[in-house]
Amino acid sequence: MTQRNIAELVKQLTLEEKAGLCSGLDFWHLKGVERLGVPSVMVSDGPHGLRKQDDSADHLGINDSIEAVCFPAACAAAASFDEGMLEELGDALGEECRAEGVSVLLGPALNIKRSPLCGRNFEYFSEDPFLAGKLAAAQVRGVQRWDVGACPKHFAANNQEHRRMTCSSELDERTLREIYLAAFETVVKEARPWTMMCAYNRVNGVFASENRHLLTRILREEWGFDGFVMSDWGAVNDRVEGLAAGLDLEMPGSGGVNDAKIVAAVREGRLDEAVVDQAAERILDVVFRYADQRHPHARFDREAHHAKAAEFAEKCAVLLQNNGVLPLNKDARVAYIGAFAQVPRYQGGGSSHVHAHRVVGALELAGAGVTYAQGFTAEGEEADEALIAQAVEAARAAETAVIFAGLPDRRESEGYDRADMRLPACQNELIRRVAAVQPSTVVVLHVGSPVECPWAGDVAAVLCMYLGGEGVGEAAHRLLYGEAAPSGRLPESWPVKLEDNPSYLNFPGDGKTVRYAEGVFVGYRYYDKKRMAVRWPFGHGLGYTEFSYGEIQLSGDTVGRGGTLEVTVPVTNTGTRPGTETVQLYVVDRTGAFGRPEKELKGFAKVALEPGETGQARFALDERSFAYYSVELSDWYAPAGRYEILAGASCQDIRSRASVTANTGVCLPMTVDENTTFGELMAHPATSSALAELLGRMKGALGGAGGGEAISTEMSHKMIENAPLRAAQGFAHLPDEAMRDMIARFNHLLGH
Ligand code: BGC
Repeated sequence: MTQRNIAELVKQLTLEEKAGLCSGLDFWHLKGVERLGVPSVMVSDGPHGLRKQDDSADHLGINDSIEAVCFPAACAAAASFDEGMLEELGDALGEECRAEGVSVLLGPALNIKRSPLCGRNFEYFSEDPFLAGKLAAAQVRGVQRWDVGACPKHFAANNQEHRRMTCSSELDERTLREIYLAAFETVVKEARPWTMMCAYNRVNGVFASENRHLLTRILREEWGFDGFVMSDWGAVNDRVEGLAAGLDLEMPGSGGVNDAKIVAAVREGRLDEAVVDQAAERILDVVFRYADQRHPHARFDREAHHAKAAEFAEKCAVLLQNNGVLPLNKDARVAYIGAFAQVPRYQGGGSSHVHAHRVVGALELAGAGVTYAQGFTAEGEEADEALIAQAVEAARAAETAVIFAGLPDRRESEGYDRADMRLPACQNELIRRVAAVQPSTVVVLHVGSPVECPWAGDVAAVLCMYLGGEGVGEAAHRLLYGEAAPSGRLPESWPVKLEDNPSYLNFPGDGKTVRYAEGVFVGYRYYDKKRMAVRWPFGHGLGYTEFSYGEIQLSGDTVGRGGTLEVTVPVTNTGTRPGTETVQLYVVDRTGAFGRPEKELKGFAKVALEPGETGQARFALDERSFAYYSVELSDWYAPAGRYEILAGASCQDIRSRASVTANTGVCLPMTVDENTTFGELMAHPATSSALAELLGRMKGALGGAGGGEAISTEMSHKMIENAPLRAAQGFAHLPDEAMRDMIARFNHLLGH
């Protein structure tokens, strides 16, 4: 159905019908209009598996949903650093949606991981907006290939669960744009999602569900979003305000209460009916994008999707450390320890909880040489002496101990944050005691977010599986025994302790507001700047082979306005096993611009190589790759000057670097008055040369003022840089009129 037809259709609707379309029929359905052939379509969670509920619907995963395949949660999927994999994952989800009659999948969730404590971090991708945006866009493309919509969420600045429905995230515009909106921007521009879900929280005092700045100015007018915006479940505060601000659909609906308010607002002249028409049009457009392409007999192969889930989980695992104990020899005597060897922890709690098709534990696949001791119970906190003693005995009798540790279910869920960053005491104690008798101890982690690892220095290897979905046990087995090589990378920094995290002093706020006082210095942007040691840095991850990097090749040594810089990084597998390297490209601002992180991720690429083989990682950097968000320009701004390009195996393991000059030719706006400093005028290309004469007089005056030995030339230069123009009146005896003329001349040179 064409856009014009939809506009026609809307004309045939009564005001009541239009207002009705702007809210859900029930928990999961939109309303239809039978007399005009508008179907009632279904939406469903969620980001890493279909959670389609038929009866007794609820949005927190309490009631069962249909059986579906549970793919790796975003915490794990992000560790793949693999857009191709995310597209495939989206593709599988889209196929399931089509077969199950679901028009819109409620995901991906791409909020930034500001604190390791956010209860929903397991559903989110990264602390880095570039990585989160690229991966989420790939997932959306995969889903929408099946003519079902995706719904990126939660827009925006929803980075904690504490008081999530009322708390105001307080942050400056630059931080908002660079960190908390950038991933959404990438998704909208690169994947054109059909819908978007607004967050529960307020942003700078205004509910996300009625935030015109976010929902209309930025999302639609700046980024060109052309789908409809739906509320998070129950996120509506004032329905009429929300509709006017750009919130098209209220979910799950209000039993007609808010529809009546919309109708009344139009009748009383408080709301333009055109706003209701527009929302109805946007909703119907998406409904028909789905309904017109519907394949009622679509099927999918659940077993094939299970195999994909296991294959994905393999690509998501991050080998954090390894003294050579891994991979294990298949004939070795190994003690598997820990409840998660039997039943892995593979997903988190809340609305993303999937009724998994089939979960296989690593123990089920273990060979004859493997013994098992439980060590702790999955939900336990306090150490159980008897279980620990058995585990220590099993570890002592074996050549290697593999402890399957992880967070209990209740520690990671939607709806509340974690209280600390620790594993349960029983698991830390178990690891300590086992490592004390068995130097070949491997820890396999099933967590959705970083945990403190006080025992890291005492164990031989750590393999993080994150929450890898229903195939995670199979993946762990293959990785431990070298049937596959780990290739995941950390999508977030793992701090040594919680207190090191930059949000620590301001998380989760006072209940009413949460101040994002660390600004853009989130995750590695902070640890880097502070030269602070972390347990494992952003981008870190080992494999079973080694790689060396060659010199970075650039397509030029300058990049102009609107230009692109091609970057090639040669990589060689110098080890004896095949492996995949994830080359990360970081950009460093050397122009001296204020408040920029040490480096920022602007590209990543995977290169699979046989032993001895060399391959190329290729990237393209555009002007935005060098830019920060300037509040003065209300736009992205790449200062002219020098930048470094770094290629690394993590943000702290830089292997190769090159330098480039940006000739962007744009300057920040400046208007001169008597308090403009000499430094500002010297730095601006339009005014620097016109300053020479006055500068000479100032220097002379300072020298003559008896500086002599006390003030060197360098010192006087610095002093003048910081002095305002009005200082010239005192030092260089500049009369009022000359000062006025000079200011006018500078402003003329600046185009005013
Ligand atoms: C969550 C959303 C979810 C919705 C529907 C809300 O509680 O925040 O992510 O899509 O419920 O289940």
